[in-house]
Amino acid sequence: MKAVEITGENACEIVDVPDPRVRGRYVKIRIHSAPLCTESNHYASGLMVRDLGHEAAGEVVEVGEKSRVKVGERVAVMPAHSCGECYLCMKGDYIHCTSSVDPLESCHSETGTSTIAEYCIQQDRLTMQIPDDLSYDHAAMACCALGPSFRASKLMQVSSYDTVLVAGLGAVGLGACINALYRGARVLALEMRPYRTELAKKLGVEAVIDPTKDDAMEEILELTHGKGADKVIETTDNPDSPPFLIKAVRGRGEITFISWSGQIPVRGIVGKGLHVHGAWHWNHITDAPEMLGLIRNSRERLDTYITHKFPMSQIKDAWDLQLSGECGKIILHPQE
Ligand SMILES: [Zn+2]
Ligand SMILES: [Zn+2]
Repeated sequence: MKAVEITGENACEIVDVPDPRVRGRYVKIRIHSAPLCTESNHYASGLMVRDLGHEAAGEVVEVGEKSRVKVGERVAVMPAHSCGECYLCMKGDYIHCTSSVDPLESCHSETGTSTIAEYCIQQDRLTMQIPDDLSYDHAAMACCALGPSFRASKLMQVSSYDTVLVAGLGAVGLGACINALYRGARVLALEMRPYRTELAKKLGVEAVIDPTKDDAMEEILELTHGKGADKVIETTDNPDSPPFLIKAVRGRGEITFISWSGQIPVRGIVGKGLHVHGAWHWNHITDAPEMLGLIRNSRERLDTYITHKFPMSQIKDAWDLQLSGECGKIILHPQE
């Protein structure tokens, strides 16, 4: 099959590699939609990683002897390779499993753990069936595009009573806006890049504030009648962001961290009586019907959010564009 390999700083190639093999509960998926995520950072730095990409939707073309998923099913592929046996896996919170398994070892396969490729492999329980009325591109938004912020919105029970502040309008932040808007919230965002600012406004975000401006905090307070945002979703990975956001949220408000960096000022949390959450990914075992409803009813917004689609042969152009920041979510089509 064709796959992509990083060959140096800002350099990559399409390569021929063996097709993946499956055994046991694993299934082989012909990838029709592979949304791009953090791999562009590896491309920029020249870091050659084994697993390139973790977001995909496609058709099951081969199954292991124990698989409960059948050939021909259309599925979204969940990220991570968890054990399936621990407390967290059994609850569907497999993303937090600390005993991950190696699919290549389990299947005696050389390939299959990258999604920027024609085929990938995954355990049957880590796939989600796609209803006939949803396209592969839309269904693939159940991965990082909408997944982490779906969890964040659910944890904080975001509703039409809320003003939600989304920090950062990368692909995850824009996905957070779609989640909050779908739940009827009023949405404000923090971002300085003009392209992303315009895109968020097209989605329905009321105001985008440049956090580097001296009066950014005053602007947020003005927009929230002096009290601060009811709920905050942090996606920036900027270490200065958490202290700013603790100031920007109202007393007894809630904040969910999707990003992994920065120090949280405990003093601010206790002083304001805040609820603080962490959201990495969502639970497709318990929440698939809600996620599919979100996707089904947000198709127009998703078509605004997905700004570019590339065949796999143009992966270099796709990554260059992603690194420029002049895009929303980018999708790669590995069969083209
Ligand atoms: Zn586990
Ligand atoms: Zn991702």
